[in-house]
Amino acid sequence: MIAPGAAKAYGVDMTWLVQPRLINDPFSDPGLFVDFRFGRRALLFDLGDLTPLSPRELLRVSHVFVSHAHMDHFSGFDALLRVCLHRAEPLALIGPAGFADRVAAKLAAYTWNLLDETSLDLAIEVDEFDGCIRRRSRFRARAAFAREELEPPPLAPDVVLEDDEFSVEAVVLDHGTPCLAFALQERLRVNVWREKLTRMGLPVGSWLNAAKLAIRRGDPDDSVVAVNAARTVTLGELRQEALQIARGQRIAYVVDAAGHEANSERAARLARGADHLFIEAAFADEDAALADERRHLTAGAAGRIAKLAGARRVIPFHFSPRYVHRPDLLPEQVNRAFHG
Ligand SMILES: [Zn+2]
Repeated sequence: MIAPGAAKAYGVDMTWLVQPRLINDPFSDPGLFVDFRFGRRALLFDLGDLTPLSPRELLRVSHVFVSHAHMDHFSGFDALLRVCLHRAEPLALIGPAGFADRVAAKLAAYTWNLLDETSLDLAIEVDEFDGCIRRRSRFRARAAFAREELEPPPLAPDVVLEDDEFSVEAVVLDHGTPCLAFALQERLRVNVWREKLTRMGLPVGSWLNAAKLAIRRGDPDDSVVAVNAARTVTLGELRQEALQIARGQRIAYVVDAAGHEANSERAARLARGADHLFIEAAFADEDAALADERRHLTAGAAGRIAKLAGARRVIPFHFSPRYVHRPDLLPEQVNRAFHG
C-alpha cells in the first residue's frame, strides 16, 4: 500500500509532504485526492464522482487539475462548488484549452440572485494549458460568477503550478480530444534528527518549518534562521548537524490516452522516476482494437509506459466495467508489462 504520511524511524521524523489516494475503486470514476500532512490543504486530480470525499476534505482543496471534460472526469464540479461556495479562499482549476468555457457553462446553470457584495467572495480561477498556460479566467461570487479575463501566470512551459513546497507539470495527450496528464514534484524532503538538534541546544518548534522551507527553496547556507528572540542558527549549521535531506516524491497521474507512440513517450517523460504512477488501464490486451477505437490505453500499454518511465510503483485504475467480474485481469497485465 501507500507509504504512511509520517513515520518515526531511527530518531528521524520522516516527513512526507503529501499522500495520494484514489477517490474511487478502479472500476468507478477516476480521480486522485492528494492530502497534505496535518490536513492543512489538499489537491484533486479530476472531478468525477466525489461522493467518498467528506465536505471537510473538499473544503481543503486549493487546486483541481482536470484532465479533460468528459463526464466521468468533470461531473463532480457541482459537488465541489456546493461545498466551497461559502468559503473565502480561492479555488483554482487547471484544464485543457477551452476549459474555462466548460466552467462558465456549469456556473451559468444556476441562479445567483442571492449573491451580492455582502457574500463571501469565493473566486474561481481557471487556467487553460496547451503546452503552457495560455489563458486565465476568473469567476467571483460577488459578481454572480461573471467571467473576467486575467493575465496568465508567468510559468515555465510544461509547468502549471509553482508552490514553495512542490510544483506540478503537465503534458497534453491525445484522447481524440486534448487530455492533460500531470506530475506533482515535491521539492527536497527535509527530515530532522531530534537528538542532534538537542545536542546543538536547539528546541523543536515552528521555526523548523521556516528552516525546512528555506532549504526547499534553495536558500544559501549562510541564511540565518531565528529560533526564538534570543537565538539564531544558519542553514549551513543545521544542514551539517541536524538535518537529513532527500529528494521529494514524484506523483504522476495519467488517464484517457490513445496507446500510440507519441502519447507513450510523452506520458513516460512526464512520469520519469515517479514514486507513484497512477495510470489508466482501461482495456485488456486482447481488446486492443476496442482500446484504439475509444482512444484509451490497454493494460499492457500502461505497464510499458510505467517501465519506460522507470516508475517505482504503478497503480493502475480507470478499468472498463466489462472486466468487473475479473478484477485481477488488468492489474496482472499491467504488472507483466511493467516487470517484463
Ligand atoms: Zn475521456
